[in-house]
Amino acid sequence: MTDSTSTRGRQTCIVHADTDLTPGFAAFTTPVARASTVIFPDLATVRAADWRDDAQWRYGLHATPTSAALAQRIAAIEGGRYALLQPSGLSAISNVYFGIVKSGDGVLIPDNVYSPNREHGEWLAQDFGLEVSYYDPLVGAGIADLIAPNTRLIWIEAPGSVTMEVPDVRAIVKAARERNIVTAIDNTYSAGLAFRPLELGVDISVQALTKYQSGGSDVLMGATITVDHDLHLKLKRARMRMGIGVSADDCSLVLRSLPNMKARFEAHDRTALNLAHWLKTRAEIATVLHPALSDCPGHAQFERDFTGAGGLFSVIFDERYSARQIDAFVEALELFAIGWSWGGAHSLVMPYDVASARTASPWPHRGTLVRFYMGLEDEADLRADIERAMAITLA
Ligand SMILES: *Cc1c(COP(=O)(O)O)cnc(C)c1O
Repeated sequence: MTDSTSTRGRQTCIVHADTDLTPGFAAFTTPVARASTVIFPDLATVRAADWRDDAQWRYGLHATPTSAALAQRIAAIEGGRYALLQPSGLSAISNVYFGIVKSGDGVLIPDNVYSPNREHGEWLAQDFGLEVSYYDPLVGAGIADLIAPNTRLIWIEAPGSVTMEVPDVRAIVKAARERNIVTAIDNTYSAGLAFRPLELGVDISVQALTKYQSGGSDVLMGATITVDHDLHLKLKRARMRMGIGVSADDCSLVLRSLPNMKARFEAHDRTALNLAHWLKTRAEIATVLHPALSDCPGHAQFERDFTGAGGLFSVIFDERYSARQIDAFVEALELFAIGWSWGGAHSLVMPYDVASARTASPWPHRGTLVRFYMGLEDEADLRADIERAMAITLA
C-alpha cells in the first residue's frame, strides 16, 4: 500500500473495499459475482474490448463469472459449445426469433408447440412482417413440402409438452439442412439429459431452466445452446441489443441444483412411467399419452432418439365424462397442485383444451386431456390420491 491509501478517510476505505478475497480459499461453490460495472485494468483493454470474445468481461448485463460458470455447464449437458442464459425460457424463444429472422422471412412452427411460442410467432407475424405457418408435428420428411423460398427458421418441440407427440427430428433436420434453414428445438422436456438434438444436427436447443435445472419452483431462467460459432454470435448480438441478462443470484440457485438434476430426473421418470402404465388400466382413461407407451404418437421416434422421459405425461379421459366432471376431478386432487410450469419436487395437474389450439392438424381425441407432472412424493400416495379423486368425481 502506498502512502496515498494510508491517508484516505474512513468512508473512502469503506467504498474501496478489497475486491480480491479469493486467494487461498477453496470450496465446491461458485461465488456469486453480482456486478453491473465491470472494472477494466486500463484504457487499452477498454479500447480492445470485443463483444464477440466470450472470454472478455465487459458489463454485468452480458456475463459474470457466475453466469459464465452456469452457461458452460448448461452447454455441456447436451453437447453444445455455447450457451446464452436468458431471464426465462420464453425469453430464450424470443432471442431465437430476433437473432435469426427478419421481416419477410418464413417460420414453420409445430401445431403442438408451447403456446407462448405460438403467441410470439403470431405477434411477429401481425406487427413485424414475419410469415408464420404451422405444421403437423408428425409430418416427418413431409416438412419438405411446406418449406417456401423465404423459410428461414423451423421450430421443433420434442415431444410437444402437452400432447406428447414425438416428431421425427432427424427427418426435419435433413430437409432443413439441405436448404440451409436454421432449426431450433424446444428441448425443455428432456432437460438435455434424455435427448441430445445438437448431435442430430439441430442448430439451436432451447431450454427453460425454470424446470428441471432449477428444480426448486423458485427461479425463472432459460438458455439457447449452440455448436456453431456464427450462430452463437447472431444470438449473442440480439441478446445484447435487447438488453437481456440474468442475475448472479439466480444463476447460483440453478448451479446449486444442477449436480442432482440427473438423479431427480430419473426419479420423476420412474414414478411417471409406473403411474402411466397404471392409468392405462383404468376404465376412466381412454388414452395415456406417454412417449414410452406404444400407443403414443411418435413412440417409434422416442424409442430411437430418447433415453428417458422425466415426470410429464398426459391422459385423455373417456368421452362419457363432461369437462365439468374432469374439472371436479382435478380440483379433488390433494397432492397435485393446479399450476403452470414443472420441474420441481411437487406434483402438478392441468386440464387443456387442445383441439381449439390447433390449426394445421386435427386433434383426434374427443375426451378431455389432463396433463400430470409427477413430483418427488411417494408413488403410492400419488396413485392413491388419483384413485380417491376418481372415486369421488367420476363414479
Ligand atoms: C416452461 C416452458 C417454457 C418457458 O419457460 P419459462 O421459463 O416459464 O418462460 C418453454 N417451453 C416449454 C416446453 C416449457 O415447458
